[in-house]
Order: sequence, then structure tokens, then C-alpha cells
Amino acid sequence: MTRDAIRLRSVTRTHGSGDAAVTALDDLSLSFAEGTFTAVMGPSGSGKSTLLQCAAGLDRPTAGTVLLGGTDLTALSENRLTLLRRERIGFVFQSFNLLPALTAAQNVALPLRLAGRRPGRSQVVDALARVGLAGRARHRPSELSGGQQQRVAIARALITQPDVLFADEPTGALDSTTGRDVLTMLRSMVDEARQTIVMVTHDPLAASYADRVLFLTDGRLNGELASPSAETVAARMTRLETAAC
Ligand code: ADP
Ligand code: MG
Repeated sequence: MTRDAIRLRSVTRTHGSGDAAVTALDDLSLSFAEGTFTAVMGPSGSGKSTLLQCAAGLDRPTAGTVLLGGTDLTALSENRLTLLRRERIGFVFQSFNLLPALTAAQNVALPLRLAGRRPGRSQVVDALARVGLAGRARHRPSELSGGQQQRVAIARALITQPDVLFADEPTGALDSTTGRDVLTMLRSMVDEARQTIVMVTHDPLAASYADRVLFLTDGRLNGELASPSAETVAARMTRLETAAC
């Protein structure tokens, strides 16, 4: 039986008020099963980043609930939410967001330090080895390629063994070959370690690495595709974007 790692129930997120109000997410209900890889696609402004931020506890819905396992994130205080995020959520950004003054190993160890845990050396070395960077532990971000930096960011996001790894356009700043390496790595984390991954992407080829693609328009779910291929995803995106014009 598969369980849901994360579930959104009737999540609405509005920005501003009155005439200027923007509904980024509109009564959205979704779930992500444990050990599955989901891609989220949709036109620019359709609410993809807001969905990820609300699901990851980085932003709070205006209405609705977000359940991580049995925990309702929307009911937690700011402090409890911060602690939960550190322990149970991983997040990877398009722009890597590594700390430039720290080495790769220090960047990877950071979430453990923030959680008050003393990182074991082998734990950090293992995490770097899993992303193919065993030999780069002492390098600083400026001494690494974009693809290597993103792999450090992935190792950092996974060091706490989070319930869910969220990635917002993780290959958006990478060339296509390097991007494919990162996607292959994400895929193998799902297949080999049953990691749950939710990834926003613009790229149909990137989405084809997922088990399922969700399409958003105007903050609502506008269909989904199981076992996606780059071609079926591209065809669906073209239809969505044509309909939006
Ligand atoms: P996407 O990632 O799909 O491009 P976003 O989730 O970033 O979309 O944004 C969804 C909608 O919410 C857009 O119309 C955007 O302009 C709006 N929005 C997002 N963040 C804010 C904010 N902080 N203030 C006002 N509007 C916002
Ligand atoms: Mg976005």
C-alpha cells in the first residue's frame, strides 16, 4: 500500500487584497505518494512556485491545510514550522543557494548543524559520494561547475533524510547535458531510496524523468499525465499555452 508523503486540501493562496488581489493557488487539492517523483508544469504565473513553497512550509496558505504525514503544517507556530522544515523537508533552488564562504562539505553539513546535531565526517562524505562528488569536499562553490554546485545543493537537501525533496526548476540554470545528469540522479534517489520528490520544471524532457506530471493553470489543477514522455508533455504544454492566450 502506498501512503501519501504530503497532501494539500483546498489550498488557496492570495496575495494583496481588494482590486489588487491575486489568487496564486485556487482551492487546490493534491497528494504526493511516498517514493514517487512528480513534476509540476504550467505557464508562467500559474502558481507552481507558490504550490511548492506552501507544500514545503516556506509560505502559508490563506486557506486550506497542508499535511506532511500526519502533521498539519498550517497549524504550526513559526518556530515549530522552522524546526519541522529543517528535519523533514528538503528544498533545492534553480540558483543553488550555496553559501560561498563554506566548502562543499560545510554546506552539506549545515542543515545538521542548524538542527543542533554534530555531523559525522563519514555522513557528510557519504552524502557527497552519493552525488558523485567524493573528491570535492574541500572545494568552495566558486571552484565547482554549475552542475557540481547543484549536486552539492541536493546532497545538502538530503542530509537530514527529509520526507520530501522539493525542487523549483533545479535544472533551469544548467546546460542540457549537466541537467540530464542531475535528473538521472534525482530519478535514482526515487528508485533506489524511495525518496519522494516534487519538482517544478518548464522543460518537457526534465518532466519525463518523473512518474507523473501535474499541469497547473491559474492556480488550479488542469490535468495530469502518468508515465510521461517528453513528446506527450510537450504536446500538453502547447495546448495549455495556446488556450491561455
Ligand atoms: P509560477 O511559479 O508558476 O510562475 P508563482 O507561483 O510564482 O507562479 O506566482 C503565481 C501568481 O502569484 C502570479 O500571478 C504571481 O504574480 C503572483 N505572486 C506570487 N508571489 C507574489 C507576491 N509575493 N506578491 C504578489 N503576487 C505574487
Ligand atoms: Mg516559479
